Amino acid sequence: MENEKKTEPRAERVRSQLKESRIPEALWPDEWEAKKKRPREIAFIDVNLCFPCGKCPEFCPVGCIEPLKPGTLPGRGDNQPVQVRFQECIGCYICVEVCALLTDYDAIRMYDTDLVEQALDTTISQKKPETPTPPEPYEELFSEGGAYRHVGKGSRLLERMNKEERKRLGWN
Ligand code: SF4
Ligand code: SF4
Repeated sequence: MENEKKTEPRAERVRSQLKESRIPEALWPDEWEAKKKRPREIAFIDVNLCFPCGKCPEFCPVGCIEPLKPGTLPGRGDNQPVQVRFQECIGCYICVEVCALLTDYDAIRMYDTDLVEQALDTTISQKKPETPTPPEPYEELFSEGGAYRHVGKGSRLLERMNKEERKRLGWN
């Protein structure tokens, strides 16, 4: 169809790779809904490393990644980085993989949920909150050189891929 949105071939391959080998079936139903259990880890974007390409919001299964309001970070004007509405994150890791595999930025890391509660003096429950918490930069907490350490090094998928799989995704 003429008006049909064309998906970038590499993005499509990443999508199928995530589906096949990374994300447990229980976390990949046909219809996504809001979170049903408290995640063990939560994603945050290092706002200093994100030059918003728009890919992770497109892949996030619960739609909880959005740009910061214009003018939030000085010098970035209307081109603000994205950040996670952390109370809605289901900890699926998809955005980490997408940013690492489809961009040059590798800007997303996961943080232990208990640590996030402590850092933001909040409680993270097993349900989507009724009112969304707008994203903030959290630069001093969850970024390279920030106060809290992330879990892991980034893409787990890339580390586990053999030569063939890397080639299939366009990585050599
Ligand atoms: S995929 Fe990475 S660079 Fe692109 S918007 Fe998301 S965090 Fe930013
Ligand atoms: S970990 Fe999953 S739910 Fe959380 S922001 Fe990333 S893609 Fe969205």
